[in-house]
Amino acid sequence: YSLEHELQQRKVDRDITEFWFYMNTKLERLKTNGNHEVAGDILKRAQDYQRTLRNDMQALYDTDEMDKWREKEGKELGELVQKRLHYIQNPKDCSKAKKIVCNLSKGCGYGCQLHHVTYCLITAYALERTLVLESKGWRYAAAGWESVFLPLSNNCIDRQGQGARHWSDPRNLVNEMAIEMPIIDSLHPRPDFLPLAVPEDLAPRLTKLHGNPSVWWIGQIVKYLTRPQPHLQKDIESVNQRLKFSGPIVGVHVRRTDKVGTEAAFHGIDEYMKHVEEYFDLLETRQTVEKRKIFLASDDPSVATEARQKYPHYEIINDPDITQSAGLNKRYTDESLRGIILDIHFLSLCDYLVCTFSSQVCRVAYEMMQTMYGDASPRFKSLDDIFYFGGQNAHNEEVVERHVAQSNMEIDLEPGDLIGIAGNHWDGFSKGLNRRTGKTGLYPSYKTKDHVTTSKMPLYHQVR
Ligand code: GDP
Repeated sequence: YSLEHELQQRKVDRDITEFWFYMNTKLERLKTNGNHEVAGDILKRAQDYQRTLRNDMQALYDTDEMDKWREKEGKELGELVQKRLHYIQNPKDCSKAKKIVCNLSKGCGYGCQLHHVTYCLITAYALERTLVLESKGWRYAAAGWESVFLPLSNNCIDRQGQGARHWSDPRNLVNEMAIEMPIIDSLHPRPDFLPLAVPEDLAPRLTKLHGNPSVWWIGQIVKYLTRPQPHLQKDIESVNQRLKFSGPIVGVHVRRTDKVGTEAAFHGIDEYMKHVEEYFDLLETRQTVEKRKIFLASDDPSVATEARQKYPHYEIINDPDITQSAGLNKRYTDESLRGIILDIHFLSLCDYLVCTFSSQVCRVAYEMMQTMYGDASPRFKSLDDIFYFGGQNAHNEEVVERHVAQSNMEIDLEPGDLIGIAGNHWDGFSKGLNRRTGKTGLYPSYKTKDHVTTSKMPLYHQVR
């Protein structure tokens, strides 16, 4: 099948989703403010329609015999990237290898720090250098990164006494042995290889394979960084057995404590469970589900108690000890590090994720999930943000259908316009800046498609 076929199939899928977001929001509003009975009836029937459409789409995917190809292609591309990372991280002679130096002193949580190292490894890949991570005294584990994850290199884990120059125009740094990176937010000048860009040479294959190439690419970087030490691997396996972790299962991440009111809004458990219910309602039209199951991760222990009370027909899997060590006052300990690694691991193994993408915890889980399927990009529902990488370069969408603003809240669109997207309101509309007209406002989400940004990175011909 052609690239066009894959893109068109994904477009129809997305159109169904956006159409349903629109109808659902409008009908819910009408049910509350207008004719409760009529709107409720239409809502119920429309929901059935929507399920059928989704099943029709799924049947198309199932019969196009591309599933095997997707799986194989995803695996092959993943292996290629892992080999390239292995290559830059294990130079023949460490003393002669050019390096990128990063440390973990960024004062933030695990997901945020992991993303900091992710950006460092992307920089190393883009400049064909070896990443040296200085992590002793890490706030989560004083012994450093290697207390839980494999060292980033077998033979090159320190800067060999080389002084490092701070990041500046990369053209002036070509001959420097070591370059030290600041946090992404204070990076200047900003190179074009930062997320959401993907390597140009991989882009054609990735665009055919995946609905969100940038998250796939970030997922591969995270995968390399978080290869577990044998003791962590054993721990993961034994927790897996103890929790009797198995699918079908939806991962729910509820971020509370210090995040609420500062960086994100409060969302009640019902808001998450509404989407879990929708997931299982759809699944049950295709197969029998003996018991509806969720894996619940949170930094607030009361969430699990409330979920068990309100949803007794669900099997709710979580590890209460982990949640106890996740709250703000116990956060920066080895125990809490183990907890967040395990929680993210199990979230990433779920069939579907319901969470807030404002949290780096859920974004990491979503990134890791991509390494396990051909294309897992549609397997999520975020209650707030669309996927993003903190400190990313501009995220653009491309207009595919003309739009004339219907109110002063909306903006005009012409095919080919680039829109800097600020967010999807999950009601059929997104908000963004039309770069041609300079106007910011709402537009129907289905009239745009994602614009994949590429960056020329080394081709790594040495790696087969
Ligand atoms: P963000 O603040 O949610 O964007 O994510 P960060 O990872 O940067 O910081 C939040 C930190 O809170 C995590 O790294 C954990 O230490 C803790 N935390 C938040 N949610 C959970 C959870 O579901 N499980 C566990 N074990 N810890 C959590």
